[in-house]
Amino acid sequence: MLVIGVDSATWDVILPNLDRLPNFRQLMEEGEHATIHLNQKPWSPEVWCTMFTGLPPEEHGHHDFVVNGEIVRREDIKADFIWDILDRAGVRVRALNVPFVVPPYCYKVDFTPVAGGVPVEQHELLEEIEKVTEKALEVLENDAPELFILAYTALDKLSHLHWGEPVLVDFYQRVDTAIGRLIPYDDEVMVISDHGFCDYDAAPVRTLPKRTPKGEIKGDHHPDAILIKKNIPCEIRQPADVFHCIKSRFLP
Ligand SMILES: [Zn+2]
Repeated sequence: MLVIGVDSATWDVILPNLDRLPNFRQLMEEGEHATIHLNQKPWSPEVWCTMFTGLPPEEHGHHDFVVNGEIVRREDIKADFIWDILDRAGVRVRALNVPFVVPPYCYKVDFTPVAGGVPVEQHELLEEIEKVTEKALEVLENDAPELFILAYTALDKLSHLHWGEPVLVDFYQRVDTAIGRLIPYDDEVMVISDHGFCDYDAAPVRTLPKRTPKGEIKGDHHPDAILIKKNIPCEIRQPADVFHCIKSRFLP
């Protein structure tokens, strides 16, 4: 099973641009797609952590990338992730660039994070898409994992500053191309985001101030995330269901 996380991917950008996103389109046609209306706050570290621990934020206890001026590490989170559980059961599992911590987390994949794990500039975001994809191809070809989870973080960073601008669609296209290189390796594929995005002024949750050193913030997180899945029969209504879905697939 191949699980591709696309941080902040949003139907509002994907659906009107499907002619430029052939791999999203193909997966949607071959599989099924849905909107996940988050019951929890659309806050990246909490949602990714819920998705792969199966626990709500109050149970996994991980709320932010930085707490009291200290970067939170995987070891600080007192919960088992899906890769921990499946690995103990003998499933060959790998994870790459999963952004519940900074730098994004890898499990049994040796990866040097781009820009120290906090890519912000456009050339750094492009580099992240390229390097994650190259490493993912290496893992798929050499390790042949039974479960491979990877994520792209670039769209979240870019959407804050460039929501509504053509450059954002260009980046969706880059992610689409990357996905197209990965999906031939597996029949069971899931593409999922941790939250959506919308106009800053319409955002129910503000994760940044309107003005930042990088410029004016144009977009912010929306509680509608995306889900596309192919040959994965279980029902996914909330991020925690991803954990249960994967677990039931490998440990029925
Ligand atoms: Zn996010």
